[in-house]
Amino acid sequence: MTRQHNVFLIRCILYLCAKVGLITNFVLVSTYKHLFFDLDNTLWDFRANAHEAFHDIFTELSLFSLIPDFQQFLDNYEHFNELLWSDYRKGKIKKDVMRIERIVLAFRKMGVDNPELAREVGEIYLRRAPRKTNVFPAVHETLGYLSGKYKLYILTNGFAEIQVQKINNAGLKGFFSKLFMAEMVGFQKPDRRFFEFAIKSIHAHKNESLMIGDDPDTDIAGAALAGIDQVFFNPGNRFCDIKPTWEIKSISELMTIL
Ligand SMILES: [Mg+2]
Repeated sequence: MTRQHNVFLIRCILYLCAKVGLITNFVLVSTYKHLFFDLDNTLWDFRANAHEAFHDIFTELSLFSLIPDFQQFLDNYEHFNELLWSDYRKGKIKKDVMRIERIVLAFRKMGVDNPELAREVGEIYLRRAPRKTNVFPAVHETLGYLSGKYKLYILTNGFAEIQVQKINNAGLKGFFSKLFMAEMVGFQKPDRRFFEFAIKSIHAHKNESLMIGDDPDTDIAGAALAGIDQVFFNPGNRFCDIKPTWEIKSISELMTIL
């Protein structure tokens, strides 16, 4: 056995001991080398950026007289966005339909049945939103700290051309060794094959890897199913079916855990 094999064997034994609770999470942490981050609502503040982008568009197209309750419109958009993303993940609708339909439905819910206008707003939104740069508090500081100790990657279901713009514009690119986009890989979270593809392509092991994300179904249950530990970023106290390895309320807590 080479020294490399011995080190790997020891790491596996320590990892298994930690998993069954024989020793503390300290050992679990010491086995990690690779951190996989979700992007939307984990690093990039989707809600704040959608708010700004729609506010710009409503101002430019004078839509506030048509839809005075802007906050209700945003809530509706967020609701339909999540609903249609779920349909898209299941292969029930196409990408282009989903992108426009979420706005058509949000408009309709506000009493505006105008698919043409919704389409126009949807197209401007797709150009505008990725230029917004709001990230959660302490994201740059935390990624700076973690990138000195671990290899960092993005693992996202979002559309590739949009996600790359968000990452670049928000000043996040330099922290990450590689970006894994579901569209490019052909599998989406929670499909374990997406996680396995990413791990294999960087020649890593599952017990050296950690998934950090905000979605209980795609990020947390997906990673757990693939045999990868998880950090559940849960500022809004969402319910999670499984117990994640860690749960945090702010991204800066990663500097304490890791
Ligand atoms: Mg997310």
